Amino acid sequence: MAGNWKMFKTPAETKDFFAKFLPLVAGSTHADFAICPPFVNIPAAVEAAAGSRAGIGGQNCYWQNKEGAFTGEVTPAMLKAAGCAYVIIGHSERRQFFGETDETVLGRTKAALEAGLIPMVCVGEMLADREAGKTNEVLATQFNGGIAGLTPEEFSRIVIAYEPVWAIGTGKVATPEMAGDAHKSIRALVEAKFGKNAAAAVRILYGGSVKPDNVKGLMAQPDIDGALVGGAALKPEDFAAIVNF
Ligand code: PEP
Repeated sequence: MAGNWKMFKTPAETKDFFAKFLPLVAGSTHADFAICPPFVNIPAAVEAAAGSRAGIGGQNCYWQNKEGAFTGEVTPAMLKAAGCAYVIIGHSERRQFFGETDETVLGRTKAALEAGLIPMVCVGEMLADREAGKTNEVLATQFNGGIAGLTPEEFSRIVIAYEPVWAIGTGKVATPEMAGDAHKSIRALVEAKFGKNAAAAVRILYGGSVKPDNVKGLMAQPDIDGALVGGAALKPEDFAAIVNF
């Protein structure tokens, strides 16, 4: 269960979140969970989460680990050195607003793996794609361009997140069946490229308006292994309820 804070919260608010959140999940041992705050809050999050089961992640990283003159970018190795275990890659907001392509997704994923991070690689269709019956086609294009170029060993260390763009931050959650079908087709793409064992082992998270009151239905789908949570991950009680589910 991963929380994507997007561009929300200050370091002080980060500390406050963990002070409330960690006691609520102290008894939780059944699921891995992580918070991905804005870069500037990573030190506060790492310090606050020390000694707990909460992992910390970045929301993006550069496609090489070599330092250089790339204003505004952060290497995966820097995230790792700052105490991160995870990084979100190819979120639809990066694809829509910051020119992320399948090619840069693949580069960032490889660099993240090289640094020892667990990349959570996002795929998902726009509303127009779904309405045109092109969901599986879009997922295949994003998979083939952004994930299929990994080696089998690299692939075994990633997490995939299916996030239908029309369900992100809109309150319009995909029905469990819609999400389950998309996860099934992603798992089939994995099987075709990396084999049966890889398809059975890979964790595929659903993201798009996940809340404490809809997590149960989504998680009942056999191909949904967890959630990537935006808005509800900003509230300690809500994200704790999702993790504890
Ligand atoms: C997200 O940011 O990845 C997300 C799924 O957001 P929300 O839960 O707010 O729809």
